[in-house]
Amino acid sequence: MTNKKSLRTALIHSGYTPPDGFSAFPAAIHHASTVLFDNVAAMRSRNWQEKTAYTYGLHGTPTTFTLEARLADIESGKHCLLAPSGLAAIAMVDFALLKSGDDVLVPDNVYNPNRELGSWLARDFGIAVRFYDPLIGAGIAGMIQPNTRLIWTEAPGSVSMEVPDIPAICRAAHDKGVLVAIDNTWSAGIAFNAFDHGVDIVMQALTKYQSGGSDVLMGAVITRDKELNHRIELAHMRLGFGVGADDTYLVLRGLPTMKLRFDAHDAGARKVAAWLKARPEIARVLHPAFADCPGHEIWKRDFSGAGGLFSVVFDDRYQEAQTDRFIDNLKLFKIGFSWGGANSLCVPYRIQTMRKGWAGQGQLVRFNVGLEDPLDLIADIEQALAVL
Ligand SMILES: *Cc1c(COP(=O)(O)O)cnc(C)c1O
Repeated sequence: MTNKKSLRTALIHSGYTPPDGFSAFPAAIHHASTVLFDNVAAMRSRNWQEKTAYTYGLHGTPTTFTLEARLADIESGKHCLLAPSGLAAIAMVDFALLKSGDDVLVPDNVYNPNRELGSWLARDFGIAVRFYDPLIGAGIAGMIQPNTRLIWTEAPGSVSMEVPDIPAICRAAHDKGVLVAIDNTWSAGIAFNAFDHGVDIVMQALTKYQSGGSDVLMGAVITRDKELNHRIELAHMRLGFGVGADDTYLVLRGLPTMKLRFDAHDAGARKVAAWLKARPEIARVLHPAFADCPGHEIWKRDFSGAGGLFSVVFDDRYQEAQTDRFIDNLKLFKIGFSWGGANSLCVPYRIQTMRKGWAGQGQLVRFNVGLEDPLDLIADIEQALAVL
């Protein structure tokens, strides 16, 4: 045996480290499952629950810590945990805070997979899930029971677009010691400061505006309270909700342009919505900045912007087959779920089967206005309306 390592070992153990002093704007992409410790004492001294040191890839790398810190800043929160999708972030909150025998209140216009998750918790996990009118405001106090632990909110609901009175819901909840979580994806944390309006837990689907690329799925849960963050962190660890380094980088890469993109989506969407509002085919424009939208006054009071997502209700005289044909004839608006990317999208929803007590038979169609020239988008809608 010589001191020279075999090639097989040498391929693994290299003494080379790059020189210190490299500096550039982007965060480095650290791929790691195993995190190395200098010695056993260092290993024993580190606690995975503290973000002051590294323990294992699942609990954080410089790349994920960087994204978490930036997201917490955007929401003016303190703590942030990443999850592999927006829906995983919702599940992380539910599994962290609910146990069998508990009760959770969910808005009736909630993002549908959140509703599905709630129904699953109710059916198989012994958790009572009750749905409430998103415009209930302070009236939520009348629904809170001794076993109610959590109230989900979404501002606005991302299909029917009602804007809830978050401060009123939070006051009623906090009076009775109940936590309030918000799905704040629509406003990207830009147009609505949820913590300043009383919310305890902010959830974001980073899949949308934060990434901006229609190319990655990720979610985040942001809090101000250390103890609350710790409870959610335990669920993150127990569920093993790690995120990949490259995906994390894609989201980091989107952040510097997010405000500019959001404002451009907002301006474009308002132009398209205003044009639709003047059309005889359209009965109602469900955009929070328009008076047709339930909760418009609350939006004016609490929000600073709107983004690219809104819905319209067609006049009752049009049947589903006609509005489907309208959507099929759009050229720039593509048919697909999600939003927050550069491309405009359009999706029909059978709102009458989704919302209890929904008034009217008009077809609901949701638009995501992307970053194209709004005049081209309007021309596209105009030519497709001709087929009605
Ligand atoms: C997209 C979305 C989610 C879920 O995000 P995914 O990353 O697709 O799981 C949650 N809430 C809202 C309002 C969304 O639009």
